[in-house]
Amino acid sequence: MRWVLFFTTPRNKIRKMEWHKNISDASLHAKIRAGEIRLGGNEKLKIYGLLSCISGKRMKRENRVFFATEQEALQHQYRPCGHCLKANYIEWKGKIGDLVKCRSH
Ligand SMILES: [Zn+2]
Repeated sequence: MRWVLFFTTPRNKIRKMEWHKNISDASLHAKIRAGEIRLGGNEKLKIYGLLSCISGKRMKRENRVFFATEQEALQHQYRPCGHCLKANYIEWKGKIGDLVKCRSH
C-alpha cells in the first residue's frame, strides 16, 4: 500500500521536509511534542530512522532532515535505517529486489 502511494503521489503533493539547520532547537522540540516530527533522516545517505537512533545522532546537523511519517520519508526516496528500523529495512530490501526483477524481464 505504501509503495503504491510512493509511485502515484504527484511531486507537488509531497510535503517539504524540515531541515535541522533551518529550525531552532526550541521549535524542533515543539514539533516533536506536537507529533509533526517523528523520524530523522540523513540527506547525504538518503536514510531515515528513529530520532533516538545512534547512527542518526552521529551525523552532522547540516545533513539532518526530519519527517512526520514514514510515508513522507519514502516519498522523498529515503530508505529505512538498518539499525533502528531493521524490520522495515528488510521489507524495503525485499521490495527493491522485486522491482529489480521486474525490470530485467
Ligand atoms: Zn537508525
